[in-house]
Amino acid sequence: MLGAIIGDIVGSRFEFNNTSEFDFELFTEECDFTDDTICTVAVADAILNGKTYRDATLEWCRRYPCPMGSYGGSFARWIRSSNPQPYGSFGNGSAMRVSAIGWLFNTREEVMEQAKRSAEITHNHPEGLKGAQAVALSVFMGRGGVAKHDILDEMRRFYPAFDEPRLGMNSFNETCQGTLPICLGIIERANSFEEAIRYAIAVGGDSDTIGAIVGAIAEAIWGVPEEIARTALTYLPHDIRTVYDDFCKAVVIKKD
Ligand SMILES: [Mg+2]
Repeated sequence: MLGAIIGDIVGSRFEFNNTSEFDFELFTEECDFTDDTICTVAVADAILNGKTYRDATLEWCRRYPCPMGSYGGSFARWIRSSNPQPYGSFGNGSAMRVSAIGWLFNTREEVMEQAKRSAEITHNHPEGLKGAQAVALSVFMGRGGVAKHDILDEMRRFYPAFDEPRLGMNSFNETCQGTLPICLGIIERANSFEEAIRYAIAVGGDSDTIGAIVGAIAEAIWGVPEEIARTALTYLPHDIRTVYDDFCKAVVIKKD
């Protein structure tokens, strides 16, 4: 979950101002958390505090109506609606928010089912559901110590061809099916959490969301370096930090 938040914060200043540099500064004053962090926290809050995914997502997004980078158009309408209904989306929003599910549920079946439920409040298109399930399952497998190679073999059943990460060559694409193949290609290429995050930004495109998805999976595989974790947490307001702290306690309890 923190991996997704880190990727979001690091990518925030590049979403509409891409870079193809690999050695950019990870954290600057221009960085902030965006919708990817807010929605990720909402999913964690739902699980930890017994809310529906729909209610928690509405609660958090309405509390933060104007994050850096703002919400996608259809999602913004969903947030403001008096009767929010799924709208058949296959946007990458279902995949960027799902990581806590891979940490907080303990069987593959539960992870797949909960990922579907978290997605279908808005992203009830088959590609929207698939994107959420692919990320949640990758996190679940990585957390369980499954080798990267085996996680990626499993992911080829979802996305048979990954995209090669080439700096500055990825075009802006907000769909699950346009985003997951590059994210998985980055995981395949990278050898550490930080390297994965740098690729996620430097390929270009929807930087904060690619950062969030890659960061979520990379955390489960490699863990997060302490210095990066510490710096990222300084960007979070108190209420988001509280959910993150509760999440950490729940994950530790599960490990014991
Ligand atoms: Mg965003």
